[in-house]
Amino acid sequence: MSRNPEAGYPLIDETLCALCRRCPAMNACKGRAILRFERDEAPYVDAARCQQCWVCLHECPYNAIVRVRI
Ligand code: SF4
Ligand code: SF4
Repeated sequence: MSRNPEAGYPLIDETLCALCRRCPAMNACKGRAILRFERDEAPYVDAARCQQCWVCLHECPYNAIVRVRI
């Protein structure tokens, strides 16, 4: 799938992330682009894997995922 850099990428705002035990955005990401190494840390998005489907923006109940241009 070709990516459109102009469309931006999701970014997880650590100040808004509630550190959900099971991150629904991570579970919904078909590109496996949302990663978390430690349970007590906010997940992050690997832009290289992101398919720009924007599902994650709607799955996060805390609106902690925003769309940015990088
Ligand atoms: S669903 Fe949103 S608030 Fe919860 S861990 Fe994932 S990014 Fe953070
Ligand atoms: S936009 Fe789609 S592929 Fe990219 S991180 Fe969100 S759910 Fe995953």
